[in-house]
Amino acid sequence: MNKHVVLYKKLSAPLMERLEAQAQVTLIDDPKGPDGIARLRDALPQADGLLGASLKLDAQLLDLAPKLKAVSSVSVGVDNYDIDYLTSRGILLTNTPDVLTETTADTGFALIMATARRVVELASMVRDGQWTQNLGAKHFGTDVHGKKLGIIGMGRIGEAVARRGHFGFGMPVIYHSHSRKPAVEARFNAQYRSLEALLQEADFVCLTLPLTAETEGLIGAEQFAQMRPETIFINIARGKVVDEQALIHALQNKQIRAAGLDVFEREPIAADSPLLKLDNVVATPHMGSATHETREAMASCAVDNLLSALAGERPANLVNEELWNR
Ligand code: NAP
Repeated sequence: MNKHVVLYKKLSAPLMERLEAQAQVTLIDDPKGPDGIARLRDALPQADGLLGASLKLDAQLLDLAPKLKAVSSVSVGVDNYDIDYLTSRGILLTNTPDVLTETTADTGFALIMATARRVVELASMVRDGQWTQNLGAKHFGTDVHGKKLGIIGMGRIGEAVARRGHFGFGMPVIYHSHSRKPAVEARFNAQYRSLEALLQEADFVCLTLPLTAETEGLIGAEQFAQMRPETIFINIARGKVVDEQALIHALQNKQIRAAGLDVFEREPIAADSPLLKLDNVVATPHMGSATHETREAMASCAVDNLLSALAGERPANLVNEELWNR
């Protein structure tokens, strides 16, 4: 057992057993805690492999790991990694696509339903003992079924959201993505739109694209101004794809109806964020993939990826594929 793996996320007992059968493992289970980073820094010089999530692993940190061969992220999004740096050092980066797609799309729909039907706001009213008479118009929501669903980023999760909208809720689907998706268009009768046209037309604008240099700040004041007062904005992608100040302004000024947000510019979001003071915001704690089944499947996929990489085999979910073709 000559490989050394540094884990910066706790695994279930069976997965830990699988990993420990193949490698020596150091667990830093709270890398963001008071002495977590110091412990991680101490462990990095021995690391052949790293496995974890939700931690920015920059070049400064990874320079401490001269033996590093592979980084296995327990996520599909890889915005926490400097891919060019990893590639330049020949370090394989892997992620966990597919296994979280349906669960994250479920979260998207939870936010669509919760914002449109004001579920959180009205349930709080009941819990607070404020349900004293039959509901009147000031508490009515808006329909989901039959409304136009606009998806920005028609990849795995975008497609799973589109499927729910089309088959489950009879929603006409429009989308914007890098490239046209003929199969999706055929399956869900989806129509391609420019970003501007989608923002103007969609009743629900749903973000399902990755955070990259190109998408950072993609949705700002100009884009909110193109939406309508009826528009509901849903973000299950990454917080930094949106200019949060512009979003707050759009919500406060009723430029849009509501927002369902699973991700934020800064996470955890500050308790005094103006977003949390707005009744027309449903905010969830980056829980897109957070079910027992899916998190276990993601961790299992990440372990498989890492073990393959350390064994010199091509991991199933290699992000910097060019390293394999060199
Ligand atoms: P994916 O299959 O790679 O889909 C992303 C789609 O976005 C692709 O279809 C891509 O288009 C499109 N895209 C990329 N850049 C674009 C741009 N500048 N303009 C328009 N479209 C663009 O990824 P996925 O598995 O669906 O995951 C998407 C993202 O969701 C992840 O990167 C992650 O950040 C986020 N996510 C969040 C949670 C959560 O907990 N909230 C959970 C899972 C994932 P092409 O296909 O044409 O290249």
